[in-house]
Amino acid sequence: MYSPLFNRESRLFQALAHPKRLEVIHLLRQQELCVNEMLKMLDLPQANISQHLTLLRRAGIVKSRRDGKNILYCLTRPQYIRASDLLKQTLMTGGSSRQVVDPVCGMKLSPQIASFTLKASGKTHYFCASGCLKKFKKEPRRFS
Ligand SMILES: [Zn+2]
Repeated sequence: MYSPLFNRESRLFQALAHPKRLEVIHLLRQQELCVNEMLKMLDLPQANISQHLTLLRRAGIVKSRRDGKNILYCLTRPQYIRASDLLKQTLMTGGSSRQVVDPVCGMKLSPQIASFTLKASGKTHYFCASGCLKKFKKEPRRFS
C-alpha cells in the first residue's frame, strides 16, 4: 500500500533520474538560463536538451518564461537543489565550506557540489557542468 505522496515523490525522482537533468537543475541553482546558454554549459545537442527540459517542466521542477526571442528557464523551487546537494554530500566525504569559482562561466560553487573537477598543473579546477569542463580542456590557457 503506497500513499499518494510516495507515488508523487517517486515520480519526482523519475523525472530527476538522469545525469544531464541533474546537471540542468544544478546549472539553474542561482540563475535563469536560456536553452542556448545551457547548451554551451552542458555540451549537448539541442534536441536532447529540449527533451530533458520538457520532461523537467512537465514534472513541475522547472518553469519557463519568454523574454523577447529567448525562453528562460528556472527552478520552481530552490528545494530541488537542496535535495540534490544533500544527496551528493552523502556521496562525498570531507570537504569544507569554502567557495570556488568555475573558471569558464564564473559560477560560484562549493567544492563538494561541483559537478566536475580537473587537476591541472598542481591546481584543482571546479566546473558546474560537463560543457564548461570540456571548454576548459580545449583551451586551458584561456581560463587560467
Ligand atoms: Zn560553468
